[in-house]
Amino acid sequence: MLNLVLFGPPGAGKGTQAGFLIEKYNLIHLSTGDLLRSEINAGTKLGLEAKSYMDKGELVPDEVVIGMIKSKLETVKDAKGFIFDGFPRTVDQAKALDNLLDGNKTPVLGMLSLEVEKQELIDRLVSRGKVSGRADDQDPTVIENRINVYNQKTLPLIEYYRPLGKHFGINGMGSIEDIALRLKEVIEKL
Ligand code: ADP
Repeated sequence: MLNLVLFGPPGAGKGTQAGFLIEKYNLIHLSTGDLLRSEINAGTKLGLEAKSYMDKGELVPDEVVIGMIKSKLETVKDAKGFIFDGFPRTVDQAKALDNLLDGNKTPVLGMLSLEVEKQELIDRLVSRGKVSGRADDQDPTVIENRINVYNQKTLPLIEYYRPLGKHFGINGMGSIEDIALRLKEVIEKL
């Protein structure tokens, strides 16, 4: 199975690129951000708890997101592979994902890490906030915090995947099509 982790800071373009990849390679897109937002929209207890973290730009606790991914993986049968988008975001989440996938003997093949300059990230998030209405894209303090949380808690994941030969840095600056091409080049070699 072609299991990929699409990695990068908030605003790196993970969701946009995941859209291309699921079509091209017939994969299933698992975005914890999307899953959490649908819990919020459905007004569930989980959504309510998650919202308090998301509104501040903090990470939702590991056990919540791991539980969500676990139940999604259990419902899917006959997949060609998964694109994990926005997950894992901590080393504990990465270990949990390995355990979940190990059960199926279908490991993560690559962690594709989109690299984008900080000012570009901020500009993209602010423009997205204007159309998406996402509260966490509209407050500069929250945007700054999300980038800081990424640097502190999520970036160290590179050192989890690198020794396994699974980390691939990809230039995430430029046109959407160019970035999609760069991703494709890496994926075809996996
Ligand atoms: P972005 O990557 O642009 O910040 P996401 O939709 O991936 O957007 O995430 C939005 C918010 O959802 C995060 O700031 C965080 O609060 C929460 N979240 C999403 N995925 C995770 C995760 N794997 N672990 C913890 N919190 C998460």
